[in-house]
Amino acid sequence: MWFRHKSLINQLLDYRNQDLFDFVNKSLSLSVERTTASCYGLYTRGTKAIVYVPYGKPSPSSFAHELLHAELKIRGVNFSTKLSVSERPALIPIFSDALSDHITNVLEHRKMFPKFLSLGYNEDEFLSDSRIAILTKPVVDSLIHGLRHGIDYSADGINSYIGKYLAARSSCFSFFDYSNELQQLRDVEPGLSSVLDGLVDRWDRYDIEKEGDPFYDSYLMISFDFLDEVESWVGSVINQATNSLWSVNTRS
Ligand SMILES: [Zn+2]
Repeated sequence: MWFRHKSLINQLLDYRNQDLFDFVNKSLSLSVERTTASCYGLYTRGTKAIVYVPYGKPSPSSFAHELLHAELKIRGVNFSTKLSVSERPALIPIFSDALSDHITNVLEHRKMFPKFLSLGYNEDEFLSDSRIAILTKPVVDSLIHGLRHGIDYSADGINSYIGKYLAARSSCFSFFDYSNELQQLRDVEPGLSSVLDGLVDRWDRYDIEKEGDPFYDSYLMISFDFLDEVESWVGSVINQATNSLWSVNTRS
């Protein structure tokens, strides 16, 4: 493979990510591009993949992170494409594109993290904001507060609860322990939290190497069942009089 940014590639590679790079580069038409954005990013479409590298920040560990995302795509795992809620009206106000992307990201990170460490990088290098806590007391308070407006559940509040709960529940960092905060969130919303716990537990049991094998669980089934369960939870808490969630979009 010929690279336009040969000198950049040389700055991104080290002895720890070279094999992973070779694997990805063999399976996808891989290129690197500089970006003015502050974070690394990966774009994939079909067999094409571009890793975006922020100006002035060539980093083998960040490159390895993006290559691990690409490896999942190569293995056929593409969770976000299956989190489509267009046929599920009750979920439309909750599942924004940003939430679907976020869920995919945190679940992918959970599968990528052990491999990242096994390559020889340390956990601080996994994310640019590795040391920023996901759940703090003010965050937990605002999640609990935002979940309902009077007797009505808020679509935005549910969106935030799902996003933060899954991020904390999927976090692998040894320097954070969210068990107390997660328990507080469970106590206020046992039904929804158990759906989210179930998703992470099933994702942990899911073997990426077996994706596509009909005798094993697939990301397709996991995402489908997850949306089914959230849908049935929403059905149980929806305001019976208005048959809807409280949503900013419908407030006026
Ligand atoms: Zn990532």
